[in-house]
Amino acid sequence: MEVPDTPENTESCICGGCPTYIVGDKLLYCSVGKSDLELEQKGCICTDCALWPEYDLSKEYYCTEGKAE
Ligand code: SF4
Ligand code: SF4
Repeated sequence: MEVPDTPENTESCICGGCPTYIVGDKLLYCSVGKSDLELEQKGCICTDCALWPEYDLSKEYYCTEGKAE
C-alpha cells in the first residue's frame, strides 16, 4: 500500500534509530523513495514501525530498494 507523505507519518518514522541510517538523511523512505546517499545495509527496523502494519507493508530496506507500492 502506498504511504502518504505527511508530517504525521514522518513523525512516526523510526529510521533515525536504525543502524543503516545516516544522520541528516531524509526520512519516510517507504513513501518518498530511496536515499540519495550510498547506504550500506546493516539491518532494517521497519517491521517495528507503527506504519508497517498501518499501511500493510511487507518489505524492508525502503531506503535502498525504493518506496512501498
Ligand atoms: S516503515 Fe520504515 S521507512 Fe517507513 S516510516 Fe517506518 S521506519 Fe520509516
Ligand atoms: S528503511 Fe529500513 S533499513 Fe532503511 S533506514 Fe529505515 S529502518 Fe533502516
